[in-house]
Amino acid sequence: MKYENGDKMKSEENSMSMYERARRVIPAGVTRPFRFFEPYPFYVKKAYKNKVIDLENKEYIDFWMGHGALVLGHMHQAIVKAVKDQIEYGFHFGLCNEWEVKLAEQIVKLVPSVEMVRFTNSGTEANMHAIRLARAYTKRLKIGKFEGNFHGIYEPLYVGMEGPNKEIESAGIDPLSIENTIILPFNDLEAAKIIKKENLACVIIEPIMGGESIPADIEFLKEIKEACNETGTLLIFDEVITGFRISPGGAQEVFGIIPDLTTFGKAVGGGEFPVGAFGGKREIMDLMDHLKHPNKKEFVMQGGTYSGNPLVMRAGYYATKEYEKRSLYEHINNLGNKLKKGLEEIVEKIGKGYVSGFGSMIKLYFTKEKVKDIRTINKAKNKEIEKKYFHYLISKGIIAMTPSEVHFYISLPHSEDDIEKLIEVSEEFLKNV
Ligand code: PMP
Repeated sequence: MKYENGDKMKSEENSMSMYERARRVIPAGVTRPFRFFEPYPFYVKKAYKNKVIDLENKEYIDFWMGHGALVLGHMHQAIVKAVKDQIEYGFHFGLCNEWEVKLAEQIVKLVPSVEMVRFTNSGTEANMHAIRLARAYTKRLKIGKFEGNFHGIYEPLYVGMEGPNKEIESAGIDPLSIENTIILPFNDLEAAKIIKKENLACVIIEPIMGGESIPADIEFLKEIKEACNETGTLLIFDEVITGFRISPGGAQEVFGIIPDLTTFGKAVGGGEFPVGAFGGKREIMDLMDHLKHPNKKEFVMQGGTYSGNPLVMRAGYYATKEYEKRSLYEHINNLGNKLKKGLEEIVEKIGKGYVSGFGSMIKLYFTKEKVKDIRTINKAKNKEIEKKYFHYLISKGIIAMTPSEVHFYISLPHSEDDIEKLIEVSEEFLKNV
């Protein structure tokens, strides 16, 4: 990695001392539990293309990729230019700006289901608003979500991540907030039957389970869509990870299944900034038009001080110009296929694993059985081995999400060499576990 700022890269601190400071002022010393790993996390001071570098100047090939957000890698020139250009104009207006319009036009152009769009500051917020909108549109209260799917930390959706049970997943959650959430089985046609029985406002689904890298079967998605159509239930695709990663039009473009609403996060703002968005059919989105719906009983409220921030919108706009280049997806999908094939070959040889994934999202499971949903994952899961794998990768200069669920996001600056190294290191690990 080239350091543009030379000596300034030298740091008085190291990750150990920084973590000691962090523990005193930040719970567990981290801003999200899975960012902690033993004995203490390394602290990143610089990121560039496919690499991150820590306070000790140790370099890592980065497959964590900003929680999968950085489809273009770190510091892509189009994003850096957008930021530099915006310096001349200001970063936060709280007023209308041209970039939100330009980014909205791009999303409408690229994503099949989206006729209108609104911006938020995170994927969690986007999902929260999409659910509210669906409830207002259908005048129904109950919502369906799939077991094992993660949609952020909005309470009605923060349930059923570990399986079919409606357990409270965090202290402080109001049990009433999940009362109207129905948990549906993923990749299981039984879900369509449940949708037909319940009077649901919407069904929200990850078309590819992100952390687990498990795609929904097309036949299953078709049945879900049909059940939704039949019952007037809105279908929401959570494309917070898959949006602009699987294709310019997301998983819906590739699978050929068009939802009523779609939510985005991460890559929609170029991957470098906090952002979210949700969009869909005009008739539904129109409920947020206070000019058409002055009556509070019909109108759906959405806001956010930083929503549509010109810096993020400008970066997002130029990112979508990159996402329009099919060569980007050829590159990351080819590398994804190479990784999947390479891991499958070693698994075949050593006989200890199963590889799941789609496009640029890949995961190695330490089981021989096929995994297709959270139930099969729970059977296969071995947290100790995952943890060892995660640490082994780090010791070889590779960082992947997360300590308890190692999976890989491949991005534009990754090379064949990066993939070969990952396969080689994984083989070494598998031979020794
Ligand atoms: N949906 C999915 C599928 C996600 O993976 C995530 C976060 N990784 C979210 C929603 C929440 O997004 P955010 O972290 O931006 O709130």
